[in-house]
Amino acid sequence: MHVKKIPMRQCTGCNERKEKKSLIRIIRTPEDEIAVDFTGKKNGRGAYICNSIDCLKLAQKKKSLERSLKTTIPETVYQELAKEMSDNENG
Ligand SMILES: [Zn+2]
Repeated sequence: MHVKKIPMRQCTGCNERKEKKSLIRIIRTPEDEIAVDFTGKKNGRGAYICNSIDCLKLAQKKKSLERSLKTTIPETVYQELAKEMSDNENG
């Protein structure tokens, strides 16, 4: 049987490698905007993070998203992510 390779990506918060589809993708678009890519299909340089507030806080503290995307992450992006994550936790 053909074994399908599962794409793995590293979380910028906890640095664990996880299934790409279980992570949230944050991209820097060609226009240098930062966007949260929930579909995983947008173009741009991407960074990944677990669907977890803890990982978000870690990434923000370590500025690992900034490093990964080589740009400044606006506070609003962190807020958007935090909102999305807490929504998921409640659901
Ligand atoms: Zn993580």
